Amino acid sequence: MIIVVSGPGGVGKGTIVDALVKRDPLLWLSRSWTTRERRPSESGDAYVFTSSDDFEQRISEGGFLEWTEFLGNYYGTPIPEPTDDRDIVLEIEVDGAQQVKRIAPDAMLIFVLPPSRDEQERRLRGRGDLDHKVLARLKKAEEEEPIGRELADHLVVNDDLETTIDEMLAIIFSARSE
Ligand code: 5GP
Repeated sequence: MIIVVSGPGGVGKGTIVDALVKRDPLLWLSRSWTTRERRPSESGDAYVFTSSDDFEQRISEGGFLEWTEFLGNYYGTPIPEPTDDRDIVLEIEVDGAQQVKRIAPDAMLIFVLPPSRDEQERRLRGRGDLDHKVLARLKKAEEEEPIGRELADHLVVNDDLETTIDEMLAIIFSARSE
């Protein structure tokens, strides 16, 4: 099963997927490539941080399941290596989610929403990004939300993190038993 976790910036997707893979050993989290610079607060393996040349090379080799340009940088999911029978988790924005749904219509999309715009802005600012970047991400989030709502198999509001994780694990368990 492919599980796509998407949602506007500042909604807590990264924290959520990290918690999901810790709690459920049958989940495998895909590591994306990006040309964005690493944030000081970010671990070196949050992404494969790469150059535009290397990213474009990999595009031309057909090495991505999906990729997109998001606020001036490339982001992409490498074609997953066939490893074991764990379910694959992708944490991606809505354009990528649309691509995955086209390639794999059975993929399950969980779209995560912020409890409020104010809280979303507070979380975005908390990452230490510059002001203009925070504003660009908020604007982008407004564009993404209606598309995500439309495309989603499940909508989850991330108000309380523990409740959100429990809710998402329940969705995943239930999908497995179908
Ligand atoms: P950030 O710069 O905040 O880490 O990520 C920006 C956006 O890109 C987020 O919505 C994140 O989920 C998304 N993203 C991360 N990796 C990928 C990927 O491989 N493909 C796509 N399409 N989006 C991604």
